[in-house]
Amino acid sequence: MKKVLKNGFLAFSFSVLFATAPLALASDGGNAHGGGHGGASQPETTASETMKAVIEGNDTFKMHHDSHYFDAFQDSQIPVLTVVTCSDSRVHTNLFGFVPDNNIFMVRNIGNQVVNSQGSVDYGIRHLPTKVLLILGHSGCGAIKAAMGDYSGESSGIKKELDPLKPVIAQDDGAGEFKERWVKNIERNVDYQVDYSMKLYEEKISHGDVVIVGAVYDFNDIYGQGRGSLIITNINGEKSPNMIMQHPVLKDLSRGPVVTHVSSRAQ
Ligand SMILES: [Zn+2]
Repeated sequence: MKKVLKNGFLAFSFSVLFATAPLALASDGGNAHGGGHGGASQPETTASETMKAVIEGNDTFKMHHDSHYFDAFQDSQIPVLTVVTCSDSRVHTNLFGFVPDNNIFMVRNIGNQVVNSQGSVDYGIRHLPTKVLLILGHSGCGAIKAAMGDYSGESSGIKKELDPLKPVIAQDDGAGEFKERWVKNIERNVDYQVDYSMKLYEEKISHGDVVIVGAVYDFNDIYGQGRGSLIITNINGEKSPNMIMQHPVLKDLSRGPVVTHVSSRAQ
């Protein structure tokens, strides 16, 4: 168990070092029914073991980055990407092809909702030079699952953060299997967050200064492209996969990769 924890932190250190290595994901994260916020069974890790790993992990990072590494961002940050994603620990943070330091302005909350962190998102879009706002949902999202049911017994803080998902869940007519409805609601939430953001940043979008991309991080192979895939489902409000594929923001990708990274389960 300790080894799992340490491996997790080692994976973090090395992914930061080399910017390409994917994180070791939590085992058993693949069951769409088993996860969510706080539900998965895992060997117990003590608080002191966790803190040992935190401190030693950062020491390892520091050991591999001499003082000059920090020169570029002593006084300011120049990230290229603002991300709004779920706090779910199974959504790894280093999948974006960059060393995250000084490149990714990361905003996380349950259900990857703009409204619950609007000031943070505003900062990334209005005060930092990020040209892409990535709204990233994920398969097996426990926040969406909770919002689909009765969460009246949750704490006031959780209720407050789940309530804004009501317009998303209202699009669900309740027909069909729960799992399929869940999948669609996850994607509908991404679409909803993109629409919400478009109203906030309409002027920047119309001037071409910002592109809003909606995507689902799929560690359950819901979209048939393998576990761990990044599936784009929306660009600036466009939800048709055929239209998304033609969007200029994807022009630097060759056709093959674009096809495998664009899809929809909600349309
Ligand atoms: Zn989630």
